[in-house]
Amino acid sequence: MRVRIDEKDLINYPFLKESQNFVSSYSGSPEQFLTTPLGKAALAQAKERILSSIVGKSGQKSTARPATPTDSMGVKVNVSGYAIARVILSCMKDRLVIDRFTRNEAQKAYECLIDEEREKKIFVATSLGIDIDAATVPLVPYVELTAGMREERWRLVNRDIEHGMVKVKKNETDELLRECIRVTISRNLPLPVAGEICEVLGPIVKEISMAEQQHLLEQFGSVEETCFPPCIQALITALSAGTNISHPGRFALTAFLHNIGMSPTDITGLFCRAPDFDISRTIYQVQHISGRGGTEYRAPSCAAMRTTAICVKKDLLCERVTHPLTYYKRKKREGARTSPGPSGDMLVNRNAGSAHREKETGNSENVRDSRGQQQGEHDQEHNKKNQA
Ligand code: SF4
Repeated sequence: MRVRIDEKDLINYPFLKESQNFVSSYSGSPEQFLTTPLGKAALAQAKERILSSIVGKSGQKSTARPATPTDSMGVKVNVSGYAIARVILSCMKDRLVIDRFTRNEAQKAYECLIDEEREKKIFVATSLGIDIDAATVPLVPYVELTAGMREERWRLVNRDIEHGMVKVKKNETDELLRECIRVTISRNLPLPVAGEICEVLGPIVKEISMAEQQHLLEQFGSVEETCFPPCIQALITALSAGTNISHPGRFALTAFLHNIGMSPTDITGLFCRAPDFDISRTIYQVQHISGRGGTEYRAPSCAAMRTTAICVKKDLLCERVTHPLTYYKRKKREGARTSPGPSGDMLVNRNAGSAHREKETGNSENVRDSRGQQQGEHDQEHNKKNQA
């Protein structure tokens, strides 16, 4: 049976080929499009779309669905807003923002899809390469698809595999479908975008970066040593014992403390017990990582920490996170106080007020990891098959 894709579907599933063809049918070149009334409205919609994925507006759930426009202009604004949001994200190159956007968009699309009539659900799922009635998934697509799924039950060692096919339960197919939407949306991001277009989008990129920084700081609140992840606690303990720590360790510690709002002065004070302490070099390095040079760095993810051998003493919470900042945020939120923190003597003059004042004066245009690449909590790109 042939499924009819209407304008509501283009809005709900903007990652489908049909939606992209729809945008191509009226948009022309991005430079020209952005100067038209439709392009400007789509640009505003794209900005709101990204901002709402960073933080829900007025306490709304960030995935709250706005009323679906029914007029032709409204549909075009909405569908092209998705496409422009991808261009903005590509200019930003901030993995954390990209990750939030893709998860938010995937959740919205998934919520539409589960309410959909069966034929349409099959159509969308098939377009993404998923058979919603299958009890097994071929091994290679399964591995690609579940690479970003954290629960233990998705690991191959916990699955039944027969003749290269992985068994999945009926209710798991929907979860795979949602992940497949996320992977499809995140595919190829960041896109290669011409410098001139990024220049035009510069003010919006800056506005979104600032909103992200503000949201991060609000989430982290005051510095709580007892909520530091084991890796960061180990680095601080090593420093306090007068041990030299490796360059990746120094970078991770500095970036982490900066990201949670500690001032460069306080971070520098932390390094004064290192045997090779050099005040001017330390100040320079801390200020550099904190954004003085125009690029603010984000602490490395758990995967990156593992490759540099500074992921140590993992605890149960570590199993549920992929980034030390997420560990910290969760532990603060959960109010857990089970792991003893490092000696308070090491963290000099820490208080949220001074730390945040320093943060506010810092340059937060870009956030990068130690290799100069921007990075977020979930940096896996996979499932190359289903081109969006
Ligand atoms: S899993 Fe992550 S948070 Fe836990 S110790 Fe390792 S790097 Fe740190």
